[in-house]
Amino acid sequence: MTTRRPPFDTDTLYLGAPEVGRLVARVGLADCLAGVAQRIEADFQRWGDFDKTARVASHSSDGVIELMPVADAQWYAFKYVNGHPKNTHIGASTVMAFGVLADVATGAPRLLAELTLPTAIRTAAMSAVAARALARPGSRVMALIGNGAQSEFQAIAFRDLVGIRTLRLFDTDRRATDKLVRNLQGQGLELIVCASGAEAARGADIVTTVTADKTRATIVTPEMLEPGMHLNAVGGDCPGKTELHPEVMSRSAVFVEYEPQTRVEGDLQQMPADFAVTELWQVLAGRATGRTGADQVTVFDSVGFALEDMSTLRFLMDTARELGIGDTLQLVPRLSDPKDLFATIGRAEPHATPPSRFQVVAPTRAQRA
Ligand code: NAD
Repeated sequence: MTTRRPPFDTDTLYLGAPEVGRLVARVGLADCLAGVAQRIEADFQRWGDFDKTARVASHSSDGVIELMPVADAQWYAFKYVNGHPKNTHIGASTVMAFGVLADVATGAPRLLAELTLPTAIRTAAMSAVAARALARPGSRVMALIGNGAQSEFQAIAFRDLVGIRTLRLFDTDRRATDKLVRNLQGQGLELIVCASGAEAARGADIVTTVTADKTRATIVTPEMLEPGMHLNAVGGDCPGKTELHPEVMSRSAVFVEYEPQTRVEGDLQQMPADFAVTELWQVLAGRATGRTGADQVTVFDSVGFALEDMSTLRFLMDTARELGIGDTLQLVPRLSDPKDLFATIGRAEPHATPPSRFQVVAPTRAQRA
């Protein structure tokens, strides 16, 4: 006697923008940043477990669309993300993203989630993890150059995870700085609005650049460097889109996420192929030295790596399940007979009555001959 197997469970948890917003509000942004930072740090320490590849980018004149895959023995993840600096002029975001987490054992998609807000959280968490490993202990003052969508997240991550107390702000768009000042009211940070990037960097322990312009920009020039500074360069993340003067790179110890990707996309793209860098995981795992002295200038040449998104997707899935947030999607079919995909379209119409749009025309005598 054969027993009928119940249909394989193909349910996918769906977290759209409203659900992700609700999740972050329930947990609190500070705890989300800390939770994601903890997972990134743990995952970077088991770097060898992951099947890694540089992201696949499709460039156009005003932007880029990228797919970012990564897997370990249990999970496969990918993120879809764009970068279009001119989007804000038409009321759209520079960066928009969503992602998927799937079972490696079966390939079944288990989570489909909006990742625009989580990308800002994971980018800030990653920056803070890097700064904790590389910046001078006791860093309290940070310049924040570029005050757009990512900036609040950087500010709060550096307050909670690094100990920053004063922010020196600059953006070429004064309205962006005003928005940042409004959003950071009552957050326990001293806010100083500056008239230029150079003024913002003056006296800062850490300089975060998170600007958006599809050009070879020089947000940080060699004259702006002070002994012992840590640079958190977030906005140069695409070929032809940089923020640091090449001499800033050559005068610093440079740390990257995944070297093959950063060589093409980071500020590193301006440097010779043999310019030495250290992958950050090595510092986090105790295999390489970070900062070697109080006067050394360190650079985290951030571009965003797929593993950070996998850490974030797992954080979202675990937290959503715990809080009962999200819907169940039937994204792929659930079949009682996996070989009967045909059943998903219902019973076939009898052959004798094809839909009128596709009338079968009888062959002519000449065609039959
Ligand atoms: P956004 O468009 O919302 O904000 C960017 C801000 O930079 C704007 O307010 C703009 O006026 C300002 N700006 C542009 N040129 C400037 C200059 N020369 N000096 C000072 N300010 C300047 O964009 P966003 O979502 O905040 O993203 C910022 C950047 O970070 C983008 O380039 C994006 O691609 C990048 N990013 C990187 C990662 C990563 O992991 N490294 C992740 C997310 C976003």
